Amino acid sequence: MSLSSKNSKGILAFYQKNLFAFILIALIAGVGVGYQLPQQAGLFTWMGELFIRGLKMVIVPLILSSIISGVSNLGQSNSLGRLTLKTLGYYLITSLLAILTGLLLVNLIEPGVGAPIPSTTESLPELSSEGASLKDTLLRMVPSNVFAAFSQGEMLSTIFFAVLFGVFLTKVNEERYRTVLSDFFNATFEVMMGITMLVILFTPLGVFGLVVDVVAEQAGDTVRLTQMAASLGKYMLTVIGGLIVHAFVTLPLLVLLLAGINPVQHFRAMLTPLITAFSTSSSGATLPLTMEALEHKAGIPNHIVSFTIPLGATINMDGTALYECVAAMFIAQAYGIELDFWQQMVVVITALLASIGAAGIPMAGLVMISVILNAVGLPLEGVGMILAVDRILDMMRTAVNVWSDSCVAAIIAHSERKSIHNAA
Ligand code: ASP
Repeated sequence: MSLSSKNSKGILAFYQKNLFAFILIALIAGVGVGYQLPQQAGLFTWMGELFIRGLKMVIVPLILSSIISGVSNLGQSNSLGRLTLKTLGYYLITSLLAILTGLLLVNLIEPGVGAPIPSTTESLPELSSEGASLKDTLLRMVPSNVFAAFSQGEMLSTIFFAVLFGVFLTKVNEERYRTVLSDFFNATFEVMMGITMLVILFTPLGVFGLVVDVVAEQAGDTVRLTQMAASLGKYMLTVIGGLIVHAFVTLPLLVLLLAGINPVQHFRAMLTPLITAFSTSSSGATLPLTMEALEHKAGIPNHIVSFTIPLGATINMDGTALYECVAAMFIAQAYGIELDFWQQMVVVITALLASIGAAGIPMAGLVMISVILNAVGLPLEGVGMILAVDRILDMMRTAVNVWSDSCVAAIIAHSERKSIHNAA
């Protein structure tokens, strides 16, 4: 090996080992540049766009190959049904815990009492509850054309088709065919992981571009932002406080008690996807990084990651669920509408449904609030009140969404090990 190739390998290894530090530096630099040079932001935003394109490029083939190979391996060991029930159960439990944390805080702090309500509706986003009800979610699950679902990155229907494909792969009579097919998808998955790792190397660049963009967008509006923060400060505090309690108390406790692993260690393994979730506000785009970190850094077995994470990135959104509940209650308080216990339970259930139905893309949660407002008869214009501060809350709730998926994966991995051990 020549000296220069040895050197470049050493540099690459050093870079990979300290990637998190580089990402952090990029984040801080992004804040500085975005704030100081908002006019020049256009020079850098392409970096963020390029990074997101790279992530999106790998998502569909990664999900397809990982789910098909994961499900077919599970199907052969007859553990698919058990794993599905357990995963859905934990996703439900963590989301409900998050919502209840939000509900408790919003009732204690009452951030909406006395908040100024909007007099106009001009800045309202396109609000429609289409795609949010249980029926719509079910309909969206079954693609009318699988290739259209792949090409549009429709997560739910892609997952549904991949699970079916994996299940029926195990039912093919001829063993030769079964082997060829599962070898093919196992190998494709390896290749996609390789490409994902390449994209990961560009995370600092992507994070820098994304953060410059967000900060520059807000920096031009500092005066309005300060005013908004003054009146919406309590609301932001309630959401952020709830997210902190859920991310740093509830989930770590669950990980410690149910997975028997050190939550700090698990958190460290997840740093790159968490910062990426924060910078992109998209748990869908972060998915390849979440899978890579869980498998290679947290040591969660591939078949568990392949099954739990694509599903989790689509339906398990604890941060969004908590935020939905607080936002709806905040709007009710601001309009002076008292919600009794049962109405608050309707908020809890609809917040859960809205978080399941929300796509893993920026601002999806904001649009979904209309579902809850509708359900308890609150004015839709209320959404206008929380628009201005949604971006920052979106970043935080997305990181919590990804963190929760990773915690459930760790819990499931532990419980599967136990089931296998007990069966042996
Ligand atoms: N941005 C969030 C996510 O991708 C969804 C939301 O808007 O709450 O997980």
